Amino acid sequence: GRAAWASAGVPDPAPTAKVRIGANECWTGPLAPGAAAAAAMIPFGNRYAPHDERGDFIKAVMSVEKVPYDHVAPWPGSSDPLSRSVVTFCSPTRGLVTADPTFELAGRTAEWLKVPVKRVPLKADFSHDVKAMLAADPNAGLYYICTPNNPTGTITPLADIEWLVANKPAGSIVLIDEAYTHFAGVPTASYLAAADKDVIVMRTFSKIFGMAGMRMGYIMARPDIIGKMMRYDGGMQSGALPLPSLACATASLTALDLIAARRSEMQEARGLALEHLRKRGLKAVPTEANMFMVDWKTVPAAKMQQAFRTQSVEIGRSWPIWPTISRITVGSAEEMKAFCEALDKVWT
Ligand code: PLP
Repeated sequence: GRAAWASAGVPDPAPTAKVRIGANECWTGPLAPGAAAAAAMIPFGNRYAPHDERGDFIKAVMSVEKVPYDHVAPWPGSSDPLSRSVVTFCSPTRGLVTADPTFELAGRTAEWLKVPVKRVPLKADFSHDVKAMLAADPNAGLYYICTPNNPTGTITPLADIEWLVANKPAGSIVLIDEAYTHFAGVPTASYLAAADKDVIVMRTFSKIFGMAGMRMGYIMARPDIIGKMMRYDGGMQSGALPLPSLACATASLTALDLIAARRSEMQEARGLALEHLRKRGLKAVPTEANMFMVDWKTVPAAKMQQAFRTQSVEIGRSWPIWPTISRITVGSAEEMKAFCEALDKVWT
């Protein structure tokens, strides 16, 4: 996504594209109650905490996820806690194990810290191969599970995650990144955090909640795990967060009907695109989230990305392990129609 462009010093081409389906953002903005709550907070922006907005947020998480108050830590987005968990639980002698392909941020942070990284290919069903992940480094500090996985949109069964938690080495953590969980609507791993296991369950408001630029997220974990991650400040010791974002997140979390409606809207738009791909004889990885991967057979994915740019459609990138496969984010139905039309122009 965006960070990759920024770090490469390359201007992000997406803002000029008419259809932006490259960065796994939501096709639309915050849920209506969230947007209203955010706007109402602006006049109180002179205070770090006009009332107890942070507490209200945590209570909303408690009501939805059934975790205790002290097991929740809000953050401005999930990138920081993701990197911070690597900083906290990995070292040159306690490595990181991730899947391949998966979201690369943990791996990048680990390499920067000279932490050994093992990348374990997904299984044939595109779930994480938890047994191979443990075997790859039986003494790792952190095992990273992204479910639904970015970029495949595939789910790793909770039974597999439970197996890893039960069999991993002492002193290690299983980090379960559920950035896309609302798009799948499946049971989550939050009960493992509530049960005081060696886990961090991570969420963001950047996806179904349409708040990528507003920066909100949180983790669920045992208080001692959260405490270790807070040992250096980074501006978080005070607990202050951007108030409009906090209020928006609080009001959005409990809007369960609106979340479900957005999930259905996504599924319908995704269905349109997948059906078109099938008709055109192109294979897609079976997905449960707001992204799908298209196999261009012998054509490099980077070349297809360039071709779509000529149609003002910004699709996603590929991962080194699968150089002919592109990740496409599910946009609105209209955007998916535009994607199909562009496809018919560039794939002849
Ligand atoms: N985790 C996954 C799996 C993601 O795909 C992303 C963003 O694309 C993030 C975490 C970080 O997003 P944010 O910092 O916006 O919460």
